[in-house]
Amino acid sequence: MERIPYFDAHCDTLLGCIRGGSLRSGPAAVALDRTGAFSPFAQVFALFYNTDFVPPEQRPAETARYHDCYLRELQRCGDLAVHCTGRDSVLRAAEAGKAAALLSIEDAALIGCDPAALETAAAWGVQFINITWNHRNLLSGSCADTPEQGLTDRGRAFVREAERLGIRMDVSHLSERGFWDLAEMAERPIVASHSNSAALWPHRRNLTDDQFRAVAASGGVVGLNVYQDFLGEPGAGIPVFIAHLEHFLELGGEDAVGLGTDFDGCAPVCAGLEDVGAMPRLWEALRARGYSGELLRKLFFENWLRVLRP
Ligand SMILES: [Zn+2]
Repeated sequence: MERIPYFDAHCDTLLGCIRGGSLRSGPAAVALDRTGAFSPFAQVFALFYNTDFVPPEQRPAETARYHDCYLRELQRCGDLAVHCTGRDSVLRAAEAGKAAALLSIEDAALIGCDPAALETAAAWGVQFINITWNHRNLLSGSCADTPEQGLTDRGRAFVREAERLGIRMDVSHLSERGFWDLAEMAERPIVASHSNSAALWPHRRNLTDDQFRAVAASGGVVGLNVYQDFLGEPGAGIPVFIAHLEHFLELGGEDAVGLGTDFDGCAPVCAGLEDVGAMPRLWEALRARGYSGELLRKLFFENWLRVLRP
């Protein structure tokens, strides 16, 4: 059977690992023993927790605990997967027949919104950092609580330092004002790791057509999310997911769309795309719609590979 290339830019599977779950197998939507249909296979794992429940002084230790959990789980799964720090190591993992695991940080507050802490994030091999999650922080407002609040001076300093280190700014969850402040100052590609089209479903977490065009113009990528709340009416299935994809393609998004499932961070998910093992259905559905192999490889793998650190 044909092996499918696969790159998912966002999942929250580490939330389960920190409670004792395994990356190898088990109830999580992303489990390495269900990735056999894919080669190459790359998954970005978000370091994430809700900062409402962790006071600022405890966050360095808490973030390190999640990072340790990620490394420990990968060690346990060393026969199947390897931590990757960028494009070259993803390709080496593929050659070795292993899953490529990558890191992101979902909410800069996990590292104190501190530009100086980005050196550590870079040393960990972090690819993307969400400037905010659903709470405003010292860098910017969020789409959920303060859409009109843009980047602060500290936010701008954070962006400049992240860009210097090659870490991509992730605008999923960011306020609309913060988005445009970033788009104006960014000198590197900006990404939206897990967001859909607001034109099709006007949820605050989705991107307007102008926002999508700005991400694409920066050379960045938008990862499509399987969360039903971001797709449409309850019960939304694969045809709705494809409608979001095709809307972005109509905006000229061939090089700017990918997958960002949000698996293990949202429920309910798109009917028919319940876990990583179901994702070949999407490939088959798009092939049946006449998508070329070249376009499918871009959407499923190559667009995200392009924006990684070297
Ligand atoms: Zn998220």
